[in-house]
Amino acid sequence: MDIKKIGIIGAGTMGTGITQVAATSGFEVILNDVGEDYIQRSLKIIEKSLTKLIEKGKIKEEKEAILARIKTTTALEDLKEVDFAVEAIFEDFDVKKKVLQDLDKLLDPSVILTSNTSSISITRLAATTSRPSRFMGMHFMNPVPLMTLVELIKGIATSDETFQQVKGLAEALGKVPVEANDFPGFISNRILLPMINEAVYALMEGVGTAEAIDTVMKLGMNHPMGPFALADLIGLDVCLHIMEVLYEGFNDPKYRPCPLLKKMVDAGYLGRKTGKGFYDYNL
Ligand code: NAD
Repeated sequence: MDIKKIGIIGAGTMGTGITQVAATSGFEVILNDVGEDYIQRSLKIIEKSLTKLIEKGKIKEEKEAILARIKTTTALEDLKEVDFAVEAIFEDFDVKKKVLQDLDKLLDPSVILTSNTSSISITRLAATTSRPSRFMGMHFMNPVPLMTLVELIKGIATSDETFQQVKGLAEALGKVPVEANDFPGFISNRILLPMINEAVYALMEGVGTAEAIDTVMKLGMNHPMGPFALADLIGLDVCLHIMEVLYEGFNDPKYRPCPLLKKMVDAGYLGRKTGKGFYDYNL
């Protein structure tokens, strides 16, 4: 199937980034959110980001031409004509289920539906629709315009044809697709979050300070950011949630969330977004 028009549901952090990349790559986009204010905020972010990338010479096309490929709507029905859809709404199974079922009824049965979920089972999401063979995980990384990886997650029923089409689309978006099977945390969060969680245990046990642990991982392991700086960026509530998904998904104590991580989330210390996490930030 020739993909020309992409529907993106959710104009938050990820939906905004995916919209920008898709429009920059020449696709027509219809961006949907529940409120006009979310959409306007998203368009402002895209405009600002495009201005910067064009100034730096990273994008050659005129900003107006790219923006002209983005249409927005608060009515899901307006996505009826799209030939590919990416869901990027809140990380909540029931909220996603409702939107996916509405989309499933709306879209032509040949259209591939994808979810950008970080932690919900693709097989479980696919099973809420009538097209599990044409359903997949398309896990972009934040910030989408700068990060080249897209993790492509096959559910138990995803067909090879679907996988190949989504892989082709990811490449057309200038990304490097990596295939993953549907297990809790996929590849990225299965490896990253236990490392962050272990760093929190090391801090709790007094093995080192947050600064010492971050410095060891940066200078000793060549990581661009230490685990605490990264956890603050991701959000400690998101980190805890993903550890809980791993713990429950595998029923294995090696994934138990560190009590200090739980305590920080209970205190409302969620990282950059609240001005306080393992480090302090000016909001
Ligand atoms: P976000 O909170 O920034 O945005 C979610 C958006 O979805 C909001 O604008 C909200 O209004 C909208 N929304 C909620 N219900 C809706 C509905 N019924 N119809 C249309 N829009 C609706 O969230 P985000 O960080 O962009 O995350 C979106 C998805 O991407 C989640 O599944 C998350 O796990 C995943 N993800 C996030 C990151 C990240 O770093 N933020 C990275 C990879 C994947």
